[in-house]
Parts: sequence; C-alpha cells; structure tokens
Amino acid sequence: MTGRVAIVGLGPGPACWITPEASSEIEAASDVVGYAAYVERLALRPDQRAHASDNRVELDRARLALTLAAEGHAVAVVSGGDPGVFAMAAALFEAIEEKPQWRALDVAVAPGVTAMQAAAARLGAPLGHDFCAISLSDNLKPWAIVQRRLEAAVEGDFVLALYNPASKARPSRIVEAFDLLRALKGATTPVAFARAVGRADEALVLTTLGEANVSLVDMATLVIVGSSETRFVARDGARAWMLTPRSYGAPR
Ligand code: SAH
Repeated sequence: MTGRVAIVGLGPGPACWITPEASSEIEAASDVVGYAAYVERLALRPDQRAHASDNRVELDRARLALTLAAEGHAVAVVSGGDPGVFAMAAALFEAIEEKPQWRALDVAVAPGVTAMQAAAARLGAPLGHDFCAISLSDNLKPWAIVQRRLEAAVEGDFVLALYNPASKARPSRIVEAFDLLRALKGATTPVAFARAVGRADEALVLTTLGEANVSLVDMATLVIVGSSETRFVARDGARAWMLTPRSYGAPR
C-alpha cells in the first residue's frame, strides 16, 4: 500500500485563512506531524494520531512523516503560513532525496496564506510592486549571506519582507540589519512592523527607517521596509495605508 504525504499550510492564524484544500487534507490524514503549536491548533478526531514535536530539526520531522507514509499511512505535515516559505516543504523534499523508495510516495503540497500576504492585506498595498522576502534567521545560513542579500535588495530598490527578524537567542540581528539598511537607504523610507497578524494580539506599527524602534520586533513579527517609491497614505483619525504603487515614478 502506498502512503501519502500532504504538506499543508495553515495560514498565519485564524481559521478563515485556512484554505478548503488544507482543511480537507487534514481531515483525510491518519497522522498529523508538525510543531506542537500548530498541531494543537487543529481539532483532530480521536482516530487521528498527532505527532507534535518541539523538535527544531525539520529534517527529522520530515523523515518521520516519510517513514509513516512508507508504512501506508496518510500523513499531513503542517506548517504555519505557506509550507513553501521558510517552512516544511523544502525539508520534506530534502529528506525525499535521501531514500530512493521515498520518491515513489504520493506527495502533495497545499499552499497557505503566507505572513507577508496577511501583513500586506492589513497595511494596504505595500507589496504592490517588486519585492523580495528574506529570512533574517542565521540558524541555517551564515549571517554574511543575509547581509549580502540585504545589500543586493537595496541595490535593486526592492520592497523587503523580513521573516524571522529576531529571537531570544539572536536579539541583535534586527539591529544589525537596520544599521545596514540605514546606511544605504533614506531615513524617511516607510517601515511597518506587523505582529501576530490575524491573532488576538495583532499589532501594527507604521514608522520610518530613521525612527524605527526595533525593540518592538520579535519572532512573531513580519517587517516590511519600503522601496524608494513606497509611501504612507494619511487618513484622518485612522491608521495610514502603506502603498507601493504599481507603476514606477507614478505622479503623486
Ligand atoms: N511558513 C511561514 C513562515 C515561517 S518563518 C509563512 O509562510 O508565513 C516564521 C516567521 O514568519 C516569523 O518569525 C514571522 O516573521 C513570520 N510570521 C509568521 N506568522 C506571522 C503572523 N501571524 N504575523 C506576522 N508575522 C508572522
């Protein structure tokens, strides 16, 4: 019997941001594998086995999922947001490379709303023109690579969506990243900190590169740094919108 692995994105938090496809993959699963916080969010039936882990080693989780599938089980591997964005999908396919028999398994990826889309939706249209997503985590890559990519993104005048901007273990990375950006970009560049978007403790901060207080940034925050075209659209008595217009050099 050939098992199945569905790599499922749960979106940034609320149930309304889980796709019907993701829900039906979870319903169809006999086994659900994932980080404990995500697995606990799901109301699994008694006949479904949860393999919740606090294990930070994604490859181990991926190998467990593939081993269960090779035994004939229907496995759902869950990630927050989209599973292809700094999450489990890549780990799963890296693990598949390890064993020829795993390539024969039925594998599907169910996409999810990623944090930068959720943040952008709250803010207005900050990703309306070319942008790039960079993870500031240096657990899996050297910090020098992060610096090179930040510099290249500034050189290309991309809007930046920064994932994994800080953690208790690495509180200074966001400070270093902003020092680098401040040396290369204008102080009035619009910046947004979008924290826990879609959750009860959601918090949005609009600021500028020059004035940004990076101590507000934690691991639940998605940081957006504007391009030279990004601006705030002020409103009376309400938070401004953040806009990166679709056409370059558009008249104001
Ligand atoms: N696969 C996830 C990203 C995993 S990396 C996705 O597609 O969204 C984890 C980082 O995502 C966090 O450090 C934070 O930068 C961002 N993030 C995840 N959920 C978020 C949320 N609800 N609000 C703001 N940022 C979030």
